[in-house]
Amino acid sequence: MVLTTVVKYKQSIVTDRETLTPNKVLLVLQDVRRVIGELQPAFRSKTLKEVLETIPKKRSEPLVIEGDNLMGVDLSAAQAILDAYREDSEGGCQSCRKLGRNTDAKNATPGWYCKVSDPEKVDATGDLSRVHYAGFSKKVRNHYGTPCENREPKFPKTLVRLVEAA
Ligand SMILES: [Zn+2]
Repeated sequence: MVLTTVVKYKQSIVTDRETLTPNKVLLVLQDVRRVIGELQPAFRSKTLKEVLETIPKKRSEPLVIEGDNLMGVDLSAAQAILDAYREDSEGGCQSCRKLGRNTDAKNATPGWYCKVSDPEKVDATGDLSRVHYAGFSKKVRNHYGTPCENREPKFPKTLVRLVEAA
């Protein structure tokens, strides 16, 4: 079978990373359930956890709905919100409230990454959004994926736990 139609999901929940809340994430998932449910009625009875599991993790992948013809739904607007929530709840120090932002990369002073400093790294040249030195230092890169003991994530619940509790 061939994908005959691709439609684009237009989000009705407008948010960005700064104003994102767990409740908005749940509203987005409910909205996706409603929209997909219009195309495929069986989708309406899915739990939010099932909705989450159905949404492809890769933003370039549409959700494929089988009917008389195969239809793809571009959910990238919703996927971006889910990605932002994951980024601020899971993983390493990138989701920490205390993530250091006061590093002066211009004069290459040692960077702080939560409570992790990397005084060996003195030749930093970049200033990535929110995460200083990510990708520049082995030590800091390690904490990007594995939190230090002082991590306090912005959102304590992972996305999966959030939908399980909903
Ligand atoms: Zn940390």
